[in-house]
Amino acid sequence: MNGKFGTIRERMVQEQLIPRGISDERVLEAMRTVPRHCFVDGALQSRAYGDFPLPIASGQTISQPYIVASMTQALALSGAERVLEIGTGSGYQAAVLSRLCKQVYTIERINVLLAGARRIFDELTYFNIVAKLDDGTLGWPENSPYDAIMVTAGGPVIPEPLLDQLADPGRLVIPVGDQRLQKLQLVEKLEGEIMIRDLEDVRFVDLVGKHGWK
Ligand code: SAH
Repeated sequence: MNGKFGTIRERMVQEQLIPRGISDERVLEAMRTVPRHCFVDGALQSRAYGDFPLPIASGQTISQPYIVASMTQALALSGAERVLEIGTGSGYQAAVLSRLCKQVYTIERINVLLAGARRIFDELTYFNIVAKLDDGTLGWPENSPYDAIMVTAGGPVIPEPLLDQLADPGRLVIPVGDQRLQKLQLVEKLEGEIMIRDLEDVRFVDLVGKHGWK
């Protein structure tokens, strides 16, 4: 699993991540370790570490490596956290998170994607990820609160249930905007207060659900 791909991942870290400001050593180590090529179609494996997003099934996409690293770094994980992800997709982002926290909960609304991601989590023995089929804009109240929440699809607003299910202190990253372009927003909950900061411009597929696009 290392060898050729290990070398390519190291180049990805050196050329795409460090120069753009990814400095959290734990995040860089996770990006060096998680085999991104396992999360894309066989025909796309040779391009898996390129500086761009790639198509996955059902017209969805796996984000560019830099965006995965940047959103992960924004959560400032130290290892003990319970993290909720909305939009499992290929499973790659959940896999990266799973190397950096205690437990990942991830929700996907498209069954074929969920099934594929679960199979890879098993193959890689990433046993601290649980995934379910649902509308993630409703969160996953049974396991709340979450120390960190990441939404990997773009919505018009920050879904209220996710704010409610965020721990205090807690951090949430989400792309918010129209269906063409979004701002990555970092929400911090601290002592009952909510602070929202705009990070960078991003382009994500639609967050579809009760508190997303219809
Ligand atoms: N994190 C993924 C990115 C996948 S693209 C990865 O690493 O590959 C975004 C995903 O969000 C798509 O798979 C889409 O089906 C899913 N999605 C969109 N709206 C959703 C919702 N309300 N609940 C759960 N998943 C949703």
